[in-house]
Amino acid sequence: MLTKKEDLSIQTRLLHHSHKHDRHTGAVSVPIQHASTFHQTNLDEFGKYDYARSGNPTREALEEIIAGLENGSEGFAFASGMAAISTTFMLLSAGDHLLITEDVYGGSYRMTTEVLTRLGVEHTFVDMTDISSVEDAIRPNTKMIYMETPSNPTMKITPVKEIAEISKAHGCISVVDNTFLTPVLQRPLDLGADIVVHSATKFIGGHSDVVAGLAVVNDHSLANQLRFLQNSFGAILGPQDCWLIMRGMKTMHTRMEASSTSALKLAKWLRKHPDVKRVYYPGLDDHPGYEKQRLQADGPGAVLSFELKDRSHVKKVVESVQIPVFAVSLGAVESILSYPAQMSHAAMPAAERNKRGITDGLLRLSVGLEKTDDLIQDLEQAL
Ligand SMILES: *Cc1c(COP(=O)(O)O)cnc(C)c1O
Repeated sequence: MLTKKEDLSIQTRLLHHSHKHDRHTGAVSVPIQHASTFHQTNLDEFGKYDYARSGNPTREALEEIIAGLENGSEGFAFASGMAAISTTFMLLSAGDHLLITEDVYGGSYRMTTEVLTRLGVEHTFVDMTDISSVEDAIRPNTKMIYMETPSNPTMKITPVKEIAEISKAHGCISVVDNTFLTPVLQRPLDLGADIVVHSATKFIGGHSDVVAGLAVVNDHSLANQLRFLQNSFGAILGPQDCWLIMRGMKTMHTRMEASSTSALKLAKWLRKHPDVKRVYYPGLDDHPGYEKQRLQADGPGAVLSFELKDRSHVKKVVESVQIPVFAVSLGAVESILSYPAQMSHAAMPAAERNKRGITDGLLRLSVGLEKTDDLIQDLEQAL
């Protein structure tokens, strides 16, 4: 007898789900439906699809697949990670207060400090690794607790279950940005979070060829609110890009596994390098979040950061590496080296960056699928 869907591992569920073949033709790929509108046969009652902003069969397939992988009830696909995050923030109203992790992604920082403030939503940045500082920061009007773990780029680990419990106890919505780990390595809804958001541009898409965002919930009433906002805000993902994300997701487990194994080797090598002051990677046993990460996730992921002893060497290193692309972004088949101070966190003032450890000597490496020894050799010559 065939095992129940829920009993299958995520590795298998990436390939075997309700959209593994097309109901009408048997095609082993989801059809790309470009229609913006749908013919209605009945004046009084419209069919399942009416206008593609509210619903499109290709997008719906992606939304159902990601909901299944995150063990949620409903998924939503957006034009970018920031569209998913900003739409989620739209659950808040003027007068509400948002608790947000202090080393949050630069774009989420910008949205919080420069847009939400204008709309009358208050915020407090907190170190989410410290449960008591989260509790202390909660106000009577706190409505949302927003986590990102591992954080970017210093890879701090937030105890999701504990923070989600605090959030529930105070009637708040808890959100986790799961971009760095994907549902292959971490499923925040299982840990009690209310909403998972993703920049699917990164590991989920995985091939540096599409910008996309996803959100998943496990509660119909919250799903209805998010669906209403998705349709009202309108930042939906187009059918072609939905297809690219579904195509990329098929190899997500294999990619995450290979890149994580390689990242651990690189982190260990970097830690011993005389020119490296510090390595941030939750797979190293001296990382402060090592134990927590081992308990709440199925691996440390494929992103690490390292700080050079001599900050003036950054330019030389960046310009001498041959294999990784030097670029904004992460989570691709090719390794990506980036400079957070001037890339992902450029929106953050220097003083705020330094407080968070995002110094001018810090480089972030998203490990791809190259042979690890080749990456080590390349970094060796560059350093
Ligand atoms: C890239 C990224 C985002 C934003 O996603 P986009 O697809 O670029 O809009 C949000 N959170 C994290 C952790 C990211 O790395």
